Amino acid sequence: MILEFTVIAIATRWSAIQRLWLAVYQRTTDFQMTVGGLFAALVLGYFLGCIPYLILDLVRPSSARAAKVQKQWYPDARALSRCFLSLFFLFFGVMLPLIAFSYPVFRWVGVRREPPLPRADEVVLHVLTCFVIEDFGNYWIHRWLHTPWLYRHIHYWHHQWNTPFSLAATDAHPLEVILLGIPTIAGPVLLSSHLLTTLIWMMLRQYEAIDIHSGYEFRWNLNAYLPFYGGTEHHDYHHYLYSGNYASIFTYCDEVYGTNLAYKQRKQVKSR
Ligand SMILES: [Zn+2]
Ligand SMILES: [Zn+2]
Repeated sequence: MILEFTVIAIATRWSAIQRLWLAVYQRTTDFQMTVGGLFAALVLGYFLGCIPYLILDLVRPSSARAAKVQKQWYPDARALSRCFLSLFFLFFGVMLPLIAFSYPVFRWVGVRREPPLPRADEVVLHVLTCFVIEDFGNYWIHRWLHTPWLYRHIHYWHHQWNTPFSLAATDAHPLEVILLGIPTIAGPVLLSSHLLTTLIWMMLRQYEAIDIHSGYEFRWNLNAYLPFYGGTEHHDYHHYLYSGNYASIFTYCDEVYGTNLAYKQRKQVKSR
């Protein structure tokens, strides 16, 4: 839901975004704009993406109940505040320093902020490629995190919520946040994307993580139109049973490597 709205907003406001970019470019240093921009994209993408789902979780309208994948549990104020505190630590204590220390790498590989700004079609191509790179890297790292030692010491943190909700999308052990950050930044680094493209990618990736953890499978969700897009139920199943469906975005890795067999069986049983 959020993902579609954002893509439409970016497409219709492209020239306004370019004007805003030039204004910020003239008033900031390279470090401020790169580090501040990347952090702002992560925070904005995350919390703006959460707002509609948080409202649904708190108000619990009967019209949205049919779309809730696991209907037996909604996050209460205690769960939300615990998760929020954890996120505060992760965003300011882990992600911000990580971005600041990675700044020389971004410069070195050619992630630049200078005009000319990329054309819209180049941005779209880079962002789509980033989705593919992220999905593949995330699949293998996530699957590796499910080996016994790594699960017990690192990945258990993300699985403390077996009924996912939007705010819990990035709630994970600091080492997991760093590990899964690698496929996220791999795309812009490999493609030497413009900083503007990188910010758009980061925001969309955050929105995508929120979408699949939202707990709501609406009929207008992206996977209703794109059968190779995982979506909420796909990842919800992973939290429910702690295994299978390791991919973050698409379904093809789980299909090719056979890690969705139990999920497919369960769906068949449910549809009967
Ligand atoms: Zn997992
Ligand atoms: Zn998850």
